[in-house]
Parts: sequence; C-alpha cells; structure tokens
Amino acid sequence: MEYTSTRNDQLSVQAAEAILRGIAPDGGLFVPKQFPSLPVEEVLDLSYPETAQKVISLFLTDYAPEFLRKAAEQTYGGERFAQKAGYVSPVGDSGMYSLELWHGPTCAFKDYALQLMPKLLVQAKEILGDTNVTKILVATSGDTGKAALAGYADLPGIKIAVFYPNEGTSEIQRLQMVTQKGENVAVYAVQGNFDDAQTGVKRVFGDPAVAERLAEKGEKLSSANSINWGRLVPQIVYYFYAYAQLVRQEVIENGERVDFCVPTGNFGDILAGYYAKRMGLPVGKLICASNKNNVLTDFLTTGVYDARRLFYKTESPSMDILVSSNLERLLYHITGDSKKVADWMAQLNQQGHYQVDHETLAQIQEHFACGCANDEDGAQEIRRCFEKNGYLMDPHTAVAWHVAASLRTNTAEQPCVILSTASPYKFPASVLAALGQSVPADEFEALRTLEEKSGMPAPESLRVLRGQTERFGQVISKEEIRQVALSL
Ligand SMILES: *Cc1c(COP(=O)(O)O)cnc(C)c1O
Repeated sequence: MEYTSTRNDQLSVQAAEAILRGIAPDGGLFVPKQFPSLPVEEVLDLSYPETAQKVISLFLTDYAPEFLRKAAEQTYGGERFAQKAGYVSPVGDSGMYSLELWHGPTCAFKDYALQLMPKLLVQAKEILGDTNVTKILVATSGDTGKAALAGYADLPGIKIAVFYPNEGTSEIQRLQMVTQKGENVAVYAVQGNFDDAQTGVKRVFGDPAVAERLAEKGEKLSSANSINWGRLVPQIVYYFYAYAQLVRQEVIENGERVDFCVPTGNFGDILAGYYAKRMGLPVGKLICASNKNNVLTDFLTTGVYDARRLFYKTESPSMDILVSSNLERLLYHITGDSKKVADWMAQLNQQGHYQVDHETLAQIQEHFACGCANDEDGAQEIRRCFEKNGYLMDPHTAVAWHVAASLRTNTAEQPCVILSTASPYKFPASVLAALGQSVPADEFEALRTLEEKSGMPAPESLRVLRGQTERFGQVISKEEIRQVALSL
C-alpha cells in the first residue's frame, strides 16, 4: 500500500516511511492512496487482537504479517485493556450504545493508538535501517502526555519528553504523568497555558540548528501527536469490532447501517470512522460532536472554517481545539485534489480561515452530521443518563451523548454508537458536580465519593496514583524546551 501527501500527490512512500517521518516534507499529512475493502463477514467472529491484525495488515503491507499479529496480541490481548478492548456496553438508551474505549492503561481512548504505535515506530526504523536515537517531544493538555509516556517507556532507541501546562491539567492527569516509570522518560511543567507548551515544542521542531546539533550525535526528533499515520490506523479497528458486536447481539443484521457519534478535537478519531466506511463498513452518519469550541460544527454546516475566534477552556479539555489537523485528510479524500487542499491550508495558516466549494461541502455532508454542547448540556446529560440508566460517563462522552440524542427524532431510527473516550474517574470533580453532589477539594476524596455514589470501582491505575512517588517536578519556561531537546 502506498501513501501520498495531502498537499502533493506526486509523492509516494510506504507505510514505514510515513510512520517514521510523521509529516510529509511539504507540510502535508500522509494518506493512503486507496482504501482496501474488508467485508464484515470476515471479522464477525474475531477477537479484538485478531480484528486489529486484519485491519492493520491491509494498510501496513510493508510490515511482516507475523510481526503485526504479535504486536496486536501483545497490545490488545491479555490484561492491558482488561479484556475489554472495544467493549460495547449494553446500556441501550433509546437505541444509543456506548463504545467504552477507556479500559486501557491510562483510561482514555488514546491508548488504542499509543500502545501500538511505539512498536510500529521501532519496527519502521528496523525496516528502513534507521539507527538514529529517536527523541519524541510531546506537548499535552493532559491525556496524550500520559498515553505517550506509557507507550514509549523503556523502548530501545527512543527517548521521550512530555511538556504540560503548569497548573493546566487535572490533579489526576498531572500525577499520572509525573509518576511515570522508565529510564527514557522525562516530564516538565511549562509556565503558561497549553498553547505556550505547544508553541515551544513546535518552535524546536522547526529549528534547523537543533536538528543539526542532534544529527551530529546520531539523534532525530519525532512527534507522537495525532497527525501520524501510525496513530490513525489502530483507531479504524474498533469501528469494525463494535459493529460486529451489534450483529452478534442481534441488535442489527449484518448490512444494516449504524451511526457513530464521536466527541471530537483534532478530528482523528472520527476520521478513522470514515476510513472504516470507505472500507465497506455499513456506517450511516458519522456525527461530529464538539463542545463550546464549535469550529467544526460551523464548518460542517456552512463550509467555512474560521479559527479566528475565542478559545474556551471547558470541562472536556481534550476537545478544546481550534485547528483540527486531521480534517485536512478528509478534504483530500473528498476532493482528490492536493493542489486545492494545499491552497486551503495556506489560507488557514496565513489568514486563519478558508471556505470549501459547494460541491465539496455537499459530499462531506453525505457522510457527516454535527452538533455541539456546552458544559451545562454535558453536565445535564451525565446526570440524566446516570439517573435513568445507572450509567456513568465522563464530560467528553457526555458532549457526544447530548449531540446524538438531540439529533435523533425517534427511537426507531438506526442504532447509534457513542464513542466513550475517557473514564469518568479521570474527571471525578467535574462528574460529581454534574451529579449535583458537593465536591471535596482533594481529587482522591472526590474519586472515592464518586465510587460510593456509583457503586462502581475506579480503575486500579488511577486509585494507586495516590501512594506513588513523584519523579518529576521541574517547572520551565517555554524557551527552555529547546535546551531539554538537546540534552535529553
Ligand atoms: C483526544 C480526545 C478526544 C478527541 O479526539 P480527536 O481524535 O482529537 O478528535 C476526545 N475525548 C478524549 C477523552 C480525548 O482524550
């Protein structure tokens, strides 16, 4: 399978190179040149690791099938996802189902990609004979940092540094990061907000002097963010696996359409659903759910992408984003025109906005619906769903639940699967407040109160954080990120 760039379709590389490079030399994103087809019958009776191997090997044709089989088994089999990889909860709320993607080691859906991608990266270096030490720099608002640390810890030939905004994450998210074990990991708080951390990291990536000094030592920078093809491809798997479960549970017959509603930030998770559809999965609408930062709702409604707007800090921080990078991939697949895409992206970079033509918008709307929910809508949804079904959801999932429910006009419609992207116990204070409870100042007290209220134990990996040693406590300025990159 060959890959090209969204901004220059003359380019052609294999998967290993797309994964090792991360981003195309012209600044575009790597995209597959065709979509392999995968009939649902072929995955109906497969386990999650088997489904993963099937889907991923169709795209990573330059990787040995046996390597992929083992990698999928090690990642998704066993206890790492608590035997609940791709689990669809039976909570049937008027035809809506919850695809629980938070049973992995860091309790957010990013584990699906970040537990596998490090193995894909190490193997890509092997395939391409690249002997550099890879230094991974990650700016994070919370979830990505821990998931990347957990995925890359103690891998050969890799070092990783994570930068989070000082006092900008939840206490649990901070503890998850600063207690990370491993010889090759480092974690820093950066003065300022997430944008400061992100800008600081981007500046280092764009600094030729840094690249040169690292090259002298046989080192190379790389990023773990969601524009890497290696992060997207593992996410296609759970769309197939969720669909197969609904068929096995006789909720639908094979061939009937199912909608998926996805709490969206960088547009990676929902794009994987579009890929599944292009591979032949009977998907109806992909519903793009945004929080108060609703730039995508506006785009999918009007065709105008306008990032010149206020940035809101919300209770669903992983969706607080104004430039959704992976949308660029969709624009390429819909138009098949890398010149057009390059123009739009240049406009976005220079002027902060662009507008797609009428035909492009109409084609996008054939596949995508959209909606947004503010913090209050989300909180009401958490409470309503808990009181009605005894089912607890986190603030990101709640945004999607609210959007899906408000788009559904009658319960006889086709089933809708909501992607549940984080454990409610990752945001105990926010969830308790939504339930109308008083919130203890200490996050672990909040966690315990929430356990009592719900009668459902919190994931072990969060509970044990309380007693663990904090390994990293350094606070740096964004200018100092450069020094960290050089000395790591
Ligand atoms: C990252 C994240 C999202 C958004 O996913 P994208 O692929 O960036 O659209 C939603 N929910 C949670 C909990 C996340 O961590």
